[in-house]
Amino acid sequence: MINKQRIIDRFISYITIDTQSDPESQTTPSTEKQWVLARKLADELQEMGMTEVSIDDHAYVMATLPANVPHQVPVIGFISHFDTSPDFNATDIKPQIIEDYDGKDIVLNEEKNIILSSEYFDDLKQYKGQTIITTDGTSLLSADDKAGITEIMTAMQYLIDNPEIPHGKIRVGFTPDEEIGRGAHKFDVEKFGAEWAYTMDGSQIGELEFENFNAAKAIVKVRGKGVHPGYAKDKMVNSQYIAVDFINSLPRLETPEHTEDRQGFFHLSSMKGDVEETLLEYIIRDHDLGHFNARKEMMQDLASEICSQYESDCISVEITDQYFNMREKIEPVMHIIEIAKEAMKEANVEPLLKPIRGGTDGAQLSYMGLPCPNIFAGGHNFHGKYEYVPVESMQKATEVIVKIAEMTSMKYK
Ligand SMILES: [Zn+2]
Repeated sequence: MINKQRIIDRFISYITIDTQSDPESQTTPSTEKQWVLARKLADELQEMGMTEVSIDDHAYVMATLPANVPHQVPVIGFISHFDTSPDFNATDIKPQIIEDYDGKDIVLNEEKNIILSSEYFDDLKQYKGQTIITTDGTSLLSADDKAGITEIMTAMQYLIDNPEIPHGKIRVGFTPDEEIGRGAHKFDVEKFGAEWAYTMDGSQIGELEFENFNAAKAIVKVRGKGVHPGYAKDKMVNSQYIAVDFINSLPRLETPEHTEDRQGFFHLSSMKGDVEETLLEYIIRDHDLGHFNARKEMMQDLASEICSQYESDCISVEITDQYFNMREKIEPVMHIIEIAKEAMKEANVEPLLKPIRGGTDGAQLSYMGLPCPNIFAGGHNFHGKYEYVPVESMQKATEVIVKIAEMTSMKYK
């Protein structure tokens, strides 16, 4: 059994180091302070007896647990990110540990009257009787993704301490800047050298994800003609009215607030304009590649249709792809999902497969040649003061890593 207190101690030693990333920065890592945890992790990996421990110029940390079986086993990897979201205060995190949670509201901060309500956040209730780590209401917790790091580190230590558990070569990778969408882009897939990997970066216990959105952004530029309003008859073209026509031509119910599961959408994220010019910014999301492409075409078609009523090129639509659904890269290697599912069952965790309504580093890595589904790390309410993590979920995630290592080696015997 994975020792609970060790998990708590390790987790707290990581979350009390501020590693917030910064989307404004152009460097990797985006903030100097991320080096502190990167170096600490590299030192700890070395101390526990991992080999090939490396930390590169961009603070990516990698290490190896050598195989302890004589037969050939594919090299597998486990990955998480050590940066913390810039969405909320991440300095001076003061965790609270609630033992034997009673299922009721948790007072995070009495003075500021900040309460983690089990009515509003009803996922909490399923953790009755467990040990919950929360914030003090003034910062986020950074269980995203220091829970993942804790689990991977603890699992490696466990495999080292219990050499009778058979496993092939295991690679671990810790990345900076995931929260600003740059965790994967400088990840050296070749150096990592794994046949497949798992990010430990999901939320509630049981989550196993290998589908995410296809994503693009669209900049819609509408051009008008400004003329003195008193003498504008048959001359003025007001770009804002054309923009409104464009907006209203898109399906009104295919928006984030009306969709769920595998339903895609157009999202108008910003609009600004005057008579001369109106700019609309959209994001386009769909799990299905065919539907995704149809959405992009639809925008272009609408633009030319509306323009034909005015003059030829009053609307231009510039679409840029952002990321793609990893499902396409995972489907040819579905055994890596099967192994994860079986490992969860062995650890008495019910696998919860659902499509991600967003992107993951694993999706980018999958397109870079490293198939990489996502597994739960245990936390809830990421990126804000209501973030919390049940220690038992971290224990289970650690156990799942150990089981995946063991089962992969058995499968290839
Ligand atoms: Zn994360």
